[in-house]
Order: sequence, then C-alpha cells, then structure tokens
Amino acid sequence: MTATSTAHLAEQFSTAFGRDPDGIWQAPGRVNLIGEHTDYNEGFVLPFAIDRTARIAVGVRSDSTVRLLSTYGDQGMTTADTAHLEAQSAKGWTKYPLGVMWSLQQRGIDIPGLDLLLQSSVPLGAGLSSSHAIECAVISALNDITGAGLSPEDMVLATQRAENDFVGAPTGIMDQSASLRGSAGHAVFLDCRDQSVELVPFEAETAGLVMLVIDTKVSHSHADGGYASRRASCELGAEVLGVKALRDVAPGDLEEASGLLDEVTFRRVRHIVTENDRVLQTVEQLRRHGPSAIGPLLYASHVSMRDDFEISCEELDLAVETSRANGAIGARMTGGGFGGAAIALTPAAEEQRVRTAVEQAFARAGFTAPDIFTVTPAAGAMRLA
Ligand code: ADP
Ligand code: MG
Repeated sequence: MTATSTAHLAEQFSTAFGRDPDGIWQAPGRVNLIGEHTDYNEGFVLPFAIDRTARIAVGVRSDSTVRLLSTYGDQGMTTADTAHLEAQSAKGWTKYPLGVMWSLQQRGIDIPGLDLLLQSSVPLGAGLSSSHAIECAVISALNDITGAGLSPEDMVLATQRAENDFVGAPTGIMDQSASLRGSAGHAVFLDCRDQSVELVPFEAETAGLVMLVIDTKVSHSHADGGYASRRASCELGAEVLGVKALRDVAPGDLEEASGLLDEVTFRRVRHIVTENDRVLQTVEQLRRHGPSAIGPLLYASHVSMRDDFEISCEELDLAVETSRANGAIGARMTGGGFGGAAIALTPAAEEQRVRTAVEQAFARAGFTAPDIFTVTPAAGAMRLA
C-alpha cells in the first residue's frame, strides 16, 4: 500500500470523526492453497495471505463509546458502548470489530472507546475471508493500543472466540492464522493441533505462473447449516473411530473405518484424511520442485470436496473444469464451500485464455458473470502509521 492511500484514509477518518486517527493498521484476506475443513479436525492447512487487505484508521476515545464506519456501501455510522457489548444487538459487519473487543474483554483486557473507519479491498463473501481481515486488523490495533502484548497464537484464539461466540460462526483457526502470520512469497503451513507454523516458499511468478481467483459471486455463509453439519459429521466420525480428532486417522486406516461408519460419514472422514495427506504432499512438492509441481494435488483436493465432502456447487465445478481445460495446471474451490471462489494456478502465457474461457462458460450456463483477478502471497497484519 502506498503512503498516499494511508494519508487518504487518515483524511477520510478526520472528515468522518472530526479528529485525527491515532494509527492505521492493515490485515490481509487469505487464499487457502490446500487443506479444506481440516483445521477444525486438528489437521494441516496451507493458506497464504493475499495482497488484498482490510485497513482501519483508529482513534482512541476518553469515554467508552465506540463509533464504527465502513467506506463500503452506505451503512452509516454505528454506535456501541464497550461497557455493554452484546452479540444480539450487533448488526452487519460491526459484529466483527465488536466481537474482537468483547473477546479481549473476556481475557480481562480493558478496551477503551474508539472511533474506527474501515476500508477493505478484500471482496466480501467470496471465500477470501474479508471478515477475518477485519478482525485481524482490529485485534492488531487493540493489541498495540492496549499494550496487551498478546502473542500471534493468543490473537488467533481471541479472534476465533469472537467468531464462534459473538458472530456465531463455528469457524476454526486457519483464516486468522494466515492473516496474522502470513509472509510475502510464502504459504503458511499450519498445524492446527498446536498452532505451529512453517513458512513455505510459494512464488508462483518466478515459476512463470499466476494464481487466479475466480469469484463465482455465489454467496456463502459460514453461519448457515452446511458448514455446521460437516463439522458434526467429522465429530461423529472421530467419536466412532475412537480418536481425539480426525487428524489421528491415517490414510491406511480408511479401509477399516469404512466398515465402522455409515456411508455418508465415511465419505466425510475420507475427505479429511486424504486432504491432510495432500497438504503434507503439497508442502513437500513446493520445497522440492516449486509451484509447478502441485497442480495434480490441487485438483485431487477439488474432486474430494466435490464428491466426498459435497461442499462444491455447479459454478465452482465449472470454474475448475474450464480452467483446467484451458491451460491451468491445477484448480480447486477454496474456502468453506457452497459458493465463494475457486483458484486456478495458471501459466502466465495462458492467463488470458483461462479468463476468457471461464467468462464464456459462465455466460453460456446462464450464471452471474464471475469476478476474476490474480493474487500474490503477501505480508500478514501490520501497523502502517
Ligand atoms: P468472507 O469472510 O468469506 O468474505 P463472511 O460472510 O464471513 O465472508 O464475511 C463477509 C461479511 O464481512 C460481509 O457480509 C460484511 O458484513 C463484512 N464485511 C467485509 N468487508 C467489509 C467492508 N469493507 N465493509 C463492511 N463490511 C464488510
Ligand atoms: Mg468469513
């Protein structure tokens, strides 16, 4: 981000609140390269922070009033009070910053009143975690402002609590880990059991590749039933198989598992077990041979989500198949599923062909025109000013 746009955000803040901000923070959205729905099964994920960020300008107040404004849409100013943060009364996007404040209060951290202006370039509801970008920008700001000294691991858990218990979305720890712990030119190899992180070089450009995101515009919502029911199947699977989490089931155990589980639960379990294995293989391939070696693993992940976990949709399948038929070396839906975005790892020379083919295929199928753009692995959350 340029200095000019930081200054512009500060200016917008001053116009809205009649004072200067005390600081500006940003946190990125994320793309999950591979490892879907493995996070809440204490497994492995490999997301990367992207060059699309939520930025917030924040001014600390001397009272307990919170005033929140977003440059997106025309939602007006929302007012709240840090002494009475309640999930029930929080509306729309404000539940993300208010949820983070609430969550920090639950840790005994004193939260002052704030004026906050949000401006985000992370597309909403596209599966790129625009919500966690907001939460991570807010928790980074509050960690600095309050001097709480939270570690990245603590901030990850505090944002998870905000999502789970305030927003009401039963999400895991992947998105905020990528947003808080990402690094330019790297994917974040995260073990969700103990939050240990290894940064794995992922530089598509130097391999002559681009990472295309195809936002299908089919909106998803984690608070909806599909996500919760997949979690329930995973919990049932772990219980019947007598393990703490599906992370503890190896690919070699699947044959025996098939005799113990009903058909649907078995397929859900098989997705998680094989997906964990694909994450490990992807990390190894990236380290040994670079991004051009991971195409087949990306597609195998998509097939598993489509057939075993059943979280894809027609638009995502069309985006993936059309990309592959027109030169992408690998493609998969990314994010929680039921809509959102697909990714297509594509030779730079084929980028235009893939874009045009996907646009035409969507038009022919009568689907809403997709939004197609490239992303690169970028830095995690930081203070800008
Ligand atoms: P995702 O996190 O995949 O983008 P979610 O449904 O979890 O999808 O979060 C999207 C929600 O985040 C939106 O409905 C909106 O409430 C909020 N949001 C994201 N970015 C902004 C923004 N710039 N301004 C206002 N609200 C936003
Ligand atoms: Mg979200």
